[in-house]
Amino acid sequence: MASPDLFGKPHAVCIPFPAQGHINPMLKLAKLLHRKGFHITFVNTEFNHQRLLKSRGPDALRGLSSFRFETIPDGLPPSDINATQDLPTLGDSTSKNCLGPFRDLLSKLNDSASLDVPPVTCVVSDGGMSFTLTAAEELRIPEVLFWTTSACGFMGYAQYPKLIERDAKCITSGYLVEVIDWIPGMKGIRLKDIPTFIRTTNRNDIMLNYVIGEIERAQKASAIILNTFDALEHDVLDALSSLFPPIYPIGPLLLPSQLDDDSHLKSIGSNLWKEDSECLQWLDTKEPNSVVYVNFGSITVMTPDQLVEFSWGLANSNQTFLWIIRPDLVTGDSAVLPPEFRSATKERGLIASWCPQEQVLRHPSIGGFFTHNGWNSTLESICRGVPMICWPFFAEQQTNCWYCCTQWGIGLEIDNDAKRDEVESLVTKLMVGENGKEMKKKAMDWKRSAEEAPSFVNLENMINQVLLPPL
Ligand code: UDP
Repeated sequence: MASPDLFGKPHAVCIPFPAQGHINPMLKLAKLLHRKGFHITFVNTEFNHQRLLKSRGPDALRGLSSFRFETIPDGLPPSDINATQDLPTLGDSTSKNCLGPFRDLLSKLNDSASLDVPPVTCVVSDGGMSFTLTAAEELRIPEVLFWTTSACGFMGYAQYPKLIERDAKCITSGYLVEVIDWIPGMKGIRLKDIPTFIRTTNRNDIMLNYVIGEIERAQKASAIILNTFDALEHDVLDALSSLFPPIYPIGPLLLPSQLDDDSHLKSIGSNLWKEDSECLQWLDTKEPNSVVYVNFGSITVMTPDQLVEFSWGLANSNQTFLWIIRPDLVTGDSAVLPPEFRSATKERGLIASWCPQEQVLRHPSIGGFFTHNGWNSTLESICRGVPMICWPFFAEQQTNCWYCCTQWGIGLEIDNDAKRDEVESLVTKLMVGENGKEMKKKAMDWKRSAEEAPSFVNLENMINQVLLPPL
């Protein structure tokens, strides 16, 4: 028999899209909900579950009696667990194949309600896993969608149908710099700055259609959560509020260590690669604001030529750097750093394959971040007052880059095909130039503003107004 208090406990099933930049913020949100008294079931794909076991060990997924992990298959054939999964294939597969297993999981959890799990009372799903809405609807329970993008990225995606309808001709590279003057809350934005999946003339493109489908289904959610704060994206949030179900900006979601009361919960992390924590000790030996941190996240890839140009740019800048080179960062088999680069920088450069990024960014030695502008990385940098060099790769990273460089005053954009001289020049500007100092000041202002953001109040409102059943 279930203990009496289990019947009264709300139970949230949290399901991220199965990629690093989605699992991290969902885990933080799940921990916050747990702290607010929810029983949590956190759902990974079997593929990522295996990866997490490998990178973090079994203890990291042991959970607590009131915070448990479950898995569902992603619908793809078995593949090498060391390789990053292809995003369009994954999105296509989850949207077509995961509803059945998810529905079965919810029934299993509800069947075991007589044992030690309270009945499922709500679903908190990634915005890119909107198939879950059907299952929540069948159970007549509320579902919130967590779009882990910036608000501006979300707005950019939301414009895809209109862009196709109104502006088909500009969806070719020749028109990328054209200003689009009709998107609410995004004055001056160019096609170049809109999330990149629109840059195709193929109306059957998998990613384009996947995004359009997910945006359309967002209308059916009980509410939408964004990991941002009003002061940062006021105009866009304002414009979004009339287009979608209620939006709750609950960001910035904080470092797990700031969230966890429970020491075991604290040890539950979500890095799919094994962290190299030694870089923190190395940073301890460096002067404040003296290190440029280079990391392009979990999906971005670069060519061997770009790797060589970036390495010489860093070497020639004479700045101290921490560069994270993921095992699969470089395309092809020839990801080799020039031996002369290694010897020229061994006193002032550290290379690692993955790091605890939030801890790195809050280390006082970090003076600048050379980033791909994934939203988590961008927000983590903002929260630590660290200015950026922006090298967006794809998706809404271009939108985030435009905001960093032209609206928030905290970024310098670098050309996609930048050669060593441009890398050297921008790294020098960021770390010791006048622009760098100006950007640092603005970044510190944004940091303060992030600290004052009413994220917990908004979370609380969302819980009371949407997730908890009326008394
Ligand atoms: N991250 C990390 N260590 C690394 C690289 C990335 O912990 O060496 C984390 C980072 O803090 C962020 C996430 O992985 O939370 C990457 O998400 P983001 O949205 O920045 O980019 P994506 O990987 O989705 O392109």
